[in-house]
Amino acid sequence: MEGIIDKKQQKFICGYNEMDITTFLIQFYNECGRDYPWRNERTPFKVYLSEVLLQRTRADQVEPVFRYLATRYPDVKTLYHGFEEVKHAIQSLGRSCRLHYFKAGLEYLLDNYSGEIPSDRQKLMAVPGIGDYIAAAIRIFGFGIPDVIVDTNAVRFFCRFYGLQSTPETRRRKSFIELVTRHVSVSNCVEYSYGLLDFAARFCQPVRPLCDICALKFQCKNGNIIKKYN
Ligand code: SF4
Repeated sequence: MEGIIDKKQQKFICGYNEMDITTFLIQFYNECGRDYPWRNERTPFKVYLSEVLLQRTRADQVEPVFRYLATRYPDVKTLYHGFEEVKHAIQSLGRSCRLHYFKAGLEYLLDNYSGEIPSDRQKLMAVPGIGDYIAAAIRIFGFGIPDVIVDTNAVRFFCRFYGLQSTPETRRRKSFIELVTRHVSVSNCVEYSYGLLDFAARFCQPVRPLCDICALKFQCKNGNIIKKYN
């Protein structure tokens, strides 16, 4: 296990006290959450910026671009007016369509909200390039409003935990969203949501999840199946 799981993460391997998922994920984040520049000094704009840059792009690639943009262009207005100068930096992350919808989103926010970012879900969803996930991330991490994250990490974790078949439609299914919503922490939505993302990335990985050593394996349907056939 040495070298795979660090000292802090060892607390979360099997044998750790059983607790509900919500408390578990909050504690996981508090004790071994990942440290990224967009997780410090969170503003709605910086969350928006980071989530646009992170779409289908690795965090280590995004870090220098985020630092550069967030330092020089701290809000919608400055970034919109300096967009021509930063195109190259954004383009370096790939996905050229990102440039188009990001600029359209900034323009929409300037025209409709004088560059402020609204916290209302429907208003956020009307911004070009902002869908369910980014809207939820801005509300949770930017405003501290409890909302539900249903990205690939959440779908993978909850489907495995409850032994559900995952399909491309799962994340849109009302019953699944209700299930995930039941676990959201109202008082610690930021820590809970980061914990979910970090735990799914560290333990409940897409390929070869670490079920053997996972603290949730006795509660988790998938962990139990793997245990049974080992
Ligand atoms: S037991 Fe396995 S599938 Fe279940 S939560 Fe842990 S790592 Fe994920």
